[in-house]
Amino acid sequence: MIDRQRMFAVRLYGKGDIRIDKVLKPISTLREQARIKVKAVGICGSDLNAYDRSDWKNPFILGHEFSGIVDEVGDDCYDGFNQLLREGTKVAVDPNQPCGKCEPCEKGHPNLCTAVHFTGFYPDNGALQELISVPARCCFPVPDTIEFESAALLETLGVALHAIDLISLKAGYSATILGAGPIGLCILQILRSMNIAPIFIVDQFDWRLKIGKELGGLPLNFTRVDPAEFILQSTGNRGTDVVFEAAWAGEAARQAAEIVIAGGKLVMIGIPKDDKLVFEHSTLRRKGLTVIMVRRMKHTYPRSIQLLERGTVDLIKLISHRFPLKKTAEAFTLNAGYKDQVLKVIIEM
Ligand SMILES: [Zn+2]
Ligand SMILES: [Zn+2]
Repeated sequence: MIDRQRMFAVRLYGKGDIRIDKVLKPISTLREQARIKVKAVGICGSDLNAYDRSDWKNPFILGHEFSGIVDEVGDDCYDGFNQLLREGTKVAVDPNQPCGKCEPCEKGHPNLCTAVHFTGFYPDNGALQELISVPARCCFPVPDTIEFESAALLETLGVALHAIDLISLKAGYSATILGAGPIGLCILQILRSMNIAPIFIVDQFDWRLKIGKELGGLPLNFTRVDPAEFILQSTGNRGTDVVFEAAWAGEAARQAAEIVIAGGKLVMIGIPKDDKLVFEHSTLRRKGLTVIMVRRMKHTYPRSIQLLERGTVDLIKLISHRFPLKKTAEAFTLNAGYKDQVLKVIIEM
């Protein structure tokens, strides 16, 4: 017999322990809440971080990069553009649910909200389930020309946009991106559209660098070339005006400081596994560097949608694998092991 009250969800129980469960469907008719039929979910570096931890008290559902179709709406449902949200609308969902009342929110930093809920971050359940209930204001309708997979990756693109927003780029600037993962490759595409040149892109995996090259970056594999040495040499010892660190920090942080010009800016996006960020103090001090930390993003969906629609950014190019919901465990094993030329994994419903 089919149980109409239940649906499939993928839950994380502990380190590397992903199971498919039957859970209750979310209630649909709450005020200002929309129930979304999930269509595509991206697996992100931060999901891999969670997957690697064992301290979860209760099993929970991952997934914060997602898109879907509005299944049902409660009363007073207005979307992220403050328009009435209707059933059947194709939407990308911003996972960030700031309170709107705390001091950071009041000061215009909803990404730093002290009372935030974030879809797919413990204890808030995420989108690796058939249906999910979210605040209507987090839903951003996307045009038919944008596929569900791309719409899911608007979150990744949003982090890249926000990282670039945090510095004031000037005409004629050059840049280095450490890490040719999905965020690094999004940053590369945006910088290209702003005529930043040259843009060095550094990684250890040739398949990622190949895409970086196709997108207009100058690829450097750090297992073969010392990126700091190479970049300093090819810029007449000047370095680049900005460096984006979008790897896992670690050695990359130190390198970033060496590569950037004196008086330049380091934008730190990567989340180090050991929770440590190590710089050489003298390098930072002597060069008078500014270190900028990136925390998620704020209200980037409308601009991200425009960048996609105009073809400024290609997100489909970043997708290397697609899995059905029931094979999510397999998808995580592959992604965590950096196997099979993985770049971005999408779970499709
Ligand atoms: Zn993400
Ligand atoms: Zn707040």
